[in-house]
Amino acid sequence: MAARRLVYPFVLALVACSSPLLAEAPVSAPAVAKSIAAPRGVRTSRVGDPTALARTVTRLKPLHEPLGKPRPGDWLAQHKEAGQLFRQYLRERPVTPTGKRSTIYVQPLGEFTAAERRIVELSAEYLSIYFTRQVKILKDLPPDVVPARARRVHPDWKVKQILSTYVLNDVLKPRLPSDAAAYIAFTASDLWPGEGWNFVYGQASLRGRVGVWSIHRNGDPEESEERFRVCLRRTLKTATHETGHMFSIRHCTAYECNMCGSNHREESDRHPLYLCCECHAKVCWATNAEPVARLRRLAKFSRTQRLKSELEYFEKAIERLESGR
Ligand SMILES: [Zn+2]
Ligand SMILES: [Zn+2]
Repeated sequence: MAARRLVYPFVLALVACSSPLLAEAPVSAPAVAKSIAAPRGVRTSRVGDPTALARTVTRLKPLHEPLGKPRPGDWLAQHKEAGQLFRQYLRERPVTPTGKRSTIYVQPLGEFTAAERRIVELSAEYLSIYFTRQVKILKDLPPDVVPARARRVHPDWKVKQILSTYVLNDVLKPRLPSDAAAYIAFTASDLWPGEGWNFVYGQASLRGRVGVWSIHRNGDPEESEERFRVCLRRTLKTATHETGHMFSIRHCTAYECNMCGSNHREESDRHPLYLCCECHAKVCWATNAEPVARLRRLAKFSRTQRLKSELEYFEKAIERLESGR
């Protein structure tokens, strides 16, 4: 038996990270390659109206299935979590992408195939719609920003991996733009977070506003149109779920929801890309998004990208909110 712990964390969220290199002079963030503007008319300096959003929770509730008993190996079978309703979230003084730090930055890191690059661009577009924020895609950082000491070949699988903590602490943190609500690296390389671990899909520093997600294990988007959509849906889930954590949203334990914790791939594929009524209100409050306008933008994206189940949900949610006006 190998001494190494055979654990397969879905994603890791670090509350605090530290690195001796943080003391060095900061390096500037790469230039912007593409900018996706926030929807017009949204005041990103403010949070939303909690009373109006509490009403949306009631209106949308019938559309959501309460989370059943966890299956063996599921996140909630192994982690005790209390959950977080909208009213509890408001009491927790959440970190919000308001004021000066309101732009989300996407940082491509390393090499990508054409289809992988398209997934990264679509994820940036989706983040902009989901969080009603300006998103800037920065110019690529070359693979050699991660030195040999932060790389390995997995001893059993022979897969090349890069050290996620190095990316967070030594690549992203020194380059964090001063107006960044979140600074997120996407890589096509596999990630591992250090001694004792096999791999991670992604890792985020909740207080540091930095995160790194790998699309390596999301399937090969070059293979077929269907595989492209599988890879896209998985990447969108991770990107929005983890960015949600960066804005103080905890794991959902009330409904099937994008903010549910996932312990393994099957569980993650089971959870929807959309949010439950409680978490929807949190995102709308934190980003000052008008709920119906946001849902319309999400529906449009889902229609264009043929994300069928998501489109069906968004259309039903719009109908319910509009009928309650
Ligand atoms: Zn999570
Ligand atoms: Zn939820």
